[in-house]
Amino acid sequence: MEHLERDVVVIGAGPSGLSAAYELNKAGKSVAVLEARDRVGGRTWTDVMDGATIEIGGQWISPDQTGLYSLINELGIETFERYKEGKSVYLTEEGEAIAYEGADFPVAESTVAEMDKLVKLMNELAADMDPDKPWEHPQAEELDKISFHHFLRQHCTDELACNNVGLFIAGGMLTKPAHTFSALQAVLMASSAGSFDNLVDEDFILDRRIVGSMQGVSKAMAERLGEDIVFLNNPVLKLEWSEDAVVAHGSSITVSAKKVVLAVPPNLYSRISYVPALPRKQQITHQHQSMGLVIKVHAVYETPFWRNEGLSGTCFGPNSLVQELYDNTYIGEETGTLVGFISDLNADAMWELDEEQRRAAILKAMAAYLGEKALEPKVFYLSDFAAEEWTRGAYATSYDLGGLHRFGPAQNENVGPIYFSSSDLAGEGFQHVDGAVRMGRRSAARIIAALDG
Ligand code: FAD
Repeated sequence: MEHLERDVVVIGAGPSGLSAAYELNKAGKSVAVLEARDRVGGRTWTDVMDGATIEIGGQWISPDQTGLYSLINELGIETFERYKEGKSVYLTEEGEAIAYEGADFPVAESTVAEMDKLVKLMNELAADMDPDKPWEHPQAEELDKISFHHFLRQHCTDELACNNVGLFIAGGMLTKPAHTFSALQAVLMASSAGSFDNLVDEDFILDRRIVGSMQGVSKAMAERLGEDIVFLNNPVLKLEWSEDAVVAHGSSITVSAKKVVLAVPPNLYSRISYVPALPRKQQITHQHQSMGLVIKVHAVYETPFWRNEGLSGTCFGPNSLVQELYDNTYIGEETGTLVGFISDLNADAMWELDEEQRRAAILKAMAAYLGEKALEPKVFYLSDFAAEEWTRGAYATSYDLGGLHRFGPAQNENVGPIYFSSSDLAGEGFQHVDGAVRMGRRSAARIIAALDG
């Protein structure tokens, strides 16, 4: 067993842990990063399949994500625009595919009006929230007592409008059914992106992608840190700590340090044995942050055939198995890649099927939007982060009903030398790579101040 002595040990080489290590290293602090997997990047991960670039995890960047933008600018990494030309497709409850332009779904005018009303309400609530302190919202307690499902229906009697608006946060973001999380959690999701308007505008929230892929951002940080700082294949299962010191036990390395950045998703905090145990408040809090579940579907075709038909590849169907679909062709590739998302209860149902049935059901749902050509991809791949030991879900964690107001205030407090850092604890950029970077930088700044102070 190799033993290292450092100022700071970072547990987890995802974008949050690496951002913390990168900042600490720049500030002259000695750092070691222990990573469980055999790769860096965590929930960002890229592979090439039959010549097509597949971003298995996080990939999009939006204009408000200035934390991530400043990092990639510093690293010399560029972005490219997602393909957005042409009409979108909306799949009605009856299964009719309607091509449309503009921001409004092609539904009855009365439903559009009801949706606008709900969006306005969410915008107003989000405007009153500091995403770093959602529990201080003037209506925080009340909003955390009601599920998002019931909150929408409290304000609107048009079921389709409720479903369409619910989709943006439930299936689209938190990847949990809308009855399992609170209206406060939904408002945080909107506030973290600047407004609900931003969140529902796919041209904003899914604006651009990273040249070299999102995992490339973590790789670039790890490369700059060097091999004697980032150690792969070293899950930390035991953390000894006192007020001013820690010892992190990896598989082949132990690290003694003054501080630790715990940069793993909150649902995995309990995977580690703390000696002594964490305080009561954290032990309870950590049980209320759970992962959503989404399957990211990748289908690669000989050509992006939808483009020739005047379609952008963007499709929505609140009642479809695949609720969202986008053109995800990587820059410069001649093949066409579609990416779709299957969330929560639909994802449960898909994992019950055998591989052949699952593939058939998913491609049929995609063909309902874009026609029969969608049935025969040359690559078909499903991202399955829920089966990964070091993630256990997707995209990220959120609180159960009532949890954000009750436990949220404790989530960012350090426990002695232990600093928690994750996209799932972020205000701005919550659940996104941007939030991971912001939290990593914030943890580093707090540690530098404590060490130098
Ligand atoms: P992670 O990326 O989860 O990194 C944590 C690291 O800790 C991992 O490498 C893990 O292996 C390691 N680890 C865990 N336990 C231990 C242990 N005990 N010891 C050592 N190491 C450990 N975000 C966007 O901005 N845009 C998107 O388009 C987007 N799409 C997404 C699509 C999918 C399918 C998924 C899964 C996520 C997506 N996200 C997206 C979210 C984004 O990927 C995450 O918010 C971000 O990766 C979180 O970074 P992190 O460093 O906080 O955590």
